[in-house]
Order: sequence, then structure tokens, then C-alpha cells
Amino acid sequence: MLANPPPWPNGATCAAAVTFDVDSDSILHLEHPDDGHRRLGAQSWLRYDQVAVPRIVELYARLGLRQTFFVPSWCAERYPEMVETIAAGGHEVAAHGYLHELAHTLEPERERELIHRSADILERVAGRRPRGWRGPLYSFSDRTAELLAAEGYAYSSSLMGDDVPYVLSTAGGELVELPVDWANDDWPQFANTVDLEWHTPTRAPERGYEVFEAELDTAIALGGLWIAVWHPFVSGRLARCDSIAGMIEYMQNKGGVWFATLEEIARHVRNAIDAGSHTPRVDRLPYSDGRVPALPADHKGQMKAHPGGC
Ligand SMILES: [Zn+2]
Repeated sequence: MLANPPPWPNGATCAAAVTFDVDSDSILHLEHPDDGHRRLGAQSWLRYDQVAVPRIVELYARLGLRQTFFVPSWCAERYPEMVETIAAGGHEVAAHGYLHELAHTLEPERERELIHRSADILERVAGRRPRGWRGPLYSFSDRTAELLAAEGYAYSSSLMGDDVPYVLSTAGGELVELPVDWANDDWPQFANTVDLEWHTPTRAPERGYEVFEAELDTAIALGGLWIAVWHPFVSGRLARCDSIAGMIEYMQNKGGVWFATLEEIARHVRNAIDAGSHTPRVDRLPYSDGRVPALPADHKGQMKAHPGGC
């Protein structure tokens, strides 16, 4: 079923990364720029990151893991102590936009400026220039890969075009893409917020983690890549964090799983390409030069008008 899995180090059958996106209240201010500062109820839910991040860093230390945390650079400016805690734990701090803005809504020059500014801010706060990028809400414009490559990023973990790492080739250079999927995101499983209009029924952690474990077990069986995309204010809550510990211990005991930061996984893939021991699939971006197809404006929104009808 898996056509071209990369060779993983030390005979591992699967590479795994439990990554966290430390969005904090950036998403609230993006969604509600006029009165987000007055919505303290929502802020308290999102600023729980300040409780959860140290807890996760401590958990990783206990389990002997170094992992990747994606941080909007506005959050790094506003909560530098949180980023310093992550960096001090030996973890990778990677970029996740400035205020969690969606790439396709930005003009190319504005997108370029925010990518550059984010790298500058994270370098200043975390002590190291970021090598990786995750598009906020998986947003990725037709120019994002080119802009990231030109800025010196080595990898993205934003797109969903494969099960295993692949290469994004652009006029500005190449990136390794470490693909993600909504199935490994904790937002659809657990997020419940009036202010951001997302309502998942509350349920036991095990029900959500069943989805992640199904993905993980298949990645282990077939030699793939498993990347969790979780949020401290969602999965760092007590009962869920306890389940995370159990799930990681399950993976560690199962054996054959290579836990690494995404930077390490991207570097491994790049080295394998350079050594000629692996040839990944290459996507050349952008996919098109313009609107596809050129339909009149009144065709817009038909999928919304007919949900589920493809
Ligand atoms: Zn995010």
C-alpha cells in the first residue's frame, strides 16, 4: 500500500513526531481583531498554553524525547518565557506564521515580509533561526514554498499530499515536505469553543486517541511517517496529557519507532536523497499559473450550497 517509504535509521520501521502548535490567543485576535482583547473567557482557554507547555516539556524530559514546537512569532514576542522553556528543554522551535495569518489571504510581498520577520523573532527569542515551517491552519499559498526556500527553511510540515516525506520544488529552491493530515490533529477531536465557532462534543480522551492510534499502528505496519499535530491548550489538559504519556510509552515499548524532531527527520531524508539511497516523489509548485478553471464569479460557493454533494 505504501509505494516508496524512506529507509529509516537503525532499522526503525516508522518515524514519529508528536509536534505541538503553540497558538495561544493569536487565533482569537486574528478572528476577532476588534474585540478579541475583551474576550477574556476565550483568552483564558487559549492562554492555558502557559500551564500546559511546561507540563509537556517536563513529560518529554521524563520520556527522554526531544520534539518540535511550532510557534507563531507574535506568541514568541508576547510570551518569551514559554519559548525559552521549550528551547531550554532541548526541543526544536519552528515557525507558524506571525499572528496565525492564512497564507492565501496575503499578497506575496506581505507573505514574504512575515516569513522573514517570523524567522528574525524566533531567532531572537529561541536563540536559533527556525529551519521548519507549518502553515497556520495548514494554509499554504501558491508562493509559500518558494518564499520559504528563499528564506533558508529546510522543510515544511503543512501539506497533505502524501503519506511519507516528499519534495517541493520551486523556482526559489527545494523544501522537504513532512506531510500531515487532519486525522492526527487534536482540534477536530477535542476543541470546543464558542468564540471560534467550533463545537466538538466532550468525550473521554481515549475516544479521540483511538483515531491517532489507528493512524500510528498503520504507519508502523507499513513503514511510514506519523506526525501528531496537537495544541498545548487542547491536549495539554490533565486527562488528555495523561493519555499522551500512555500513548508515547506504548510506542516506545512497541519498538521500531524512530522518535525525532521534524528537523532531524527532514535532514535524514535530505541526506538519503543526496546519498542516492532514496528518491522521493517531487511536487513542482505552484500547480498552476492562475485560476482553474476560469469560471464566471456566480459559480463561486457551489460546494457550500451543496455540502456533501460531490
Ligand atoms: Zn496553529
